[in-house]
Amino acid sequence: MAKTNDEQFKNVISHAKEYGFVFQSSEIYDGLSAVYDYGQLGSELKNNIKTYWWKAMVQLHENIVGIDAAIFMHPKVWKASGHVDGFNDPMIDNKDSKKRYRADQLLEDKIARYEKDGKTDKAAKLQADMDAALTAEDLPRLKTLIEEHEIACPVSGTRNWTEVRQFNLMFSTQFGAMAEGSDEVYLRPETAQGIFVNFLNVQKSGRMKIPFGIAQIGKAFRNEVIARQFIMRMREFEQMEMQFFVRPGEDQKWFAYWKEARLKWHQALGTTPEKYRFHDHVKLAHYANAATDIEFEFPFGFKEVEGIHSRTDFDLSQHQEYSGKKMQYFDNDLNEDGKPYGNYIPYVIETSIGLDRMFLLTLINALEEEDLSTPEKTDSRTLLRLHPALAPIKVAIFPLTKKDGLPEKAREIMDQLKFDFNCVYEEKDAIGKRYRRMDAIGTPFCLTVDHQTLEDETVTIRHRDTMEQQRIEIKELHTIIESKVSWRNLLS
Ligand code: ATP
Repeated sequence: MAKTNDEQFKNVISHAKEYGFVFQSSEIYDGLSAVYDYGQLGSELKNNIKTYWWKAMVQLHENIVGIDAAIFMHPKVWKASGHVDGFNDPMIDNKDSKKRYRADQLLEDKIARYEKDGKTDKAAKLQADMDAALTAEDLPRLKTLIEEHEIACPVSGTRNWTEVRQFNLMFSTQFGAMAEGSDEVYLRPETAQGIFVNFLNVQKSGRMKIPFGIAQIGKAFRNEVIARQFIMRMREFEQMEMQFFVRPGEDQKWFAYWKEARLKWHQALGTTPEKYRFHDHVKLAHYANAATDIEFEFPFGFKEVEGIHSRTDFDLSQHQEYSGKKMQYFDNDLNEDGKPYGNYIPYVIETSIGLDRMFLLTLINALEEEDLSTPEKTDSRTLLRLHPALAPIKVAIFPLTKKDGLPEKAREIMDQLKFDFNCVYEEKDAIGKRYRRMDAIGTPFCLTVDHQTLEDETVTIRHRDTMEQQRIEIKELHTIIESKVSWRNLLS
């Protein structure tokens, strides 16, 4: 029987734990809410996703370079960026259950329920009212909407609510030994600002010419009011961001370019195209003149994986104002009138993808229960159909038995392959069982070494997706494996 979306999602979570992809942080102490650890296979998969992004964005673009900025930044950075004053979520508490909610989320859930019940007019009206209240930062109005639409706490079932308050999502800590307010620093809530403050350092030291981009992968921290859906919304997570600096006036052209380029990056992984969609923002942040989300259809609905934002010259202008340092670029290319473009603050197109959401999407997409039943018997296998370039382990090497020199021969083959491909060696259990375990973690190739190997230097190679087995010469292995796992397959 087909699984419901809920069952499918639970399956992904338990699979992630069972095979060492993702664990709850500090699990032996009952866990820390919305914080997760990546296990032995998870960290490999995560690294491969990072590599895919880094190669596509940095190494294959002559005009994009990568940096690795510190998590701690001068506190003024977050004043300039607007995060100290504006990085808030409206929250509301239920006095009976003592549970805290995001006011906008309660309303969103109600809108979804209206839509499900066919009350589209009511849904549209509430959406418009909520958007207006959020734009005006009218917190009492949000509370009124919650009351008017008779929204009850899912836990206590009552409508006994506190006022709506703003809650800043940044974590702060003390810097150095002094415990005074002026020494308060923040854990960065996004990686982007590390790029903006280094704009001139990179431009000058790298002799970069506009248009050019600066990319980075790194941790970000947000004290999310409600954290849910596994690694979808975490308090510590990782972002892969790129800021592309362009001439004012050319921003819309580059926005369109990056929108398409980023969707292509996602789709190269072989995902069903219908699982992705753009969600263009109607209501824009104060600094943006265009924005879209790339959404993926998770088991709990279409949700944002990546944001593409046209941020104008907002960030660089703010840093120029707050730091007192010029953030300008001198463009000596000639414009239509034959004159140099001269000095200006560049406009910025940002692409910002959550690594953990991409990881979750990848697992959800890949995990399947394949029916292998024949008229004679029912059978199935758990398969992680990861793109071979992303697979944590590329090759598993099995001696058929633990004796007769087969383990030694298997290790000799592994020694030839391990510098280029992540390999594992396994001699326990029957071969069939070993194959199934590798299917469940997405290993594209299994090699079996048997007595014939000792005579004619051949092995059996078994392909994950088709389960097809072939007898091939050891000297052919490298080429066959390389042809499947190469980044070229994804990037060219
Ligand atoms: P959301 O609306 O889902 O909170 P956002 O619009 O605040 O996301 P951005 O600030 O645009 O997100 O961040 C860029 C990307 O970072 C998002 O597309 C998402 O993939 C990822 N991201 C943001 N917040 C989290 C989080 N708490 N946990 C995991 N990933 C996150």
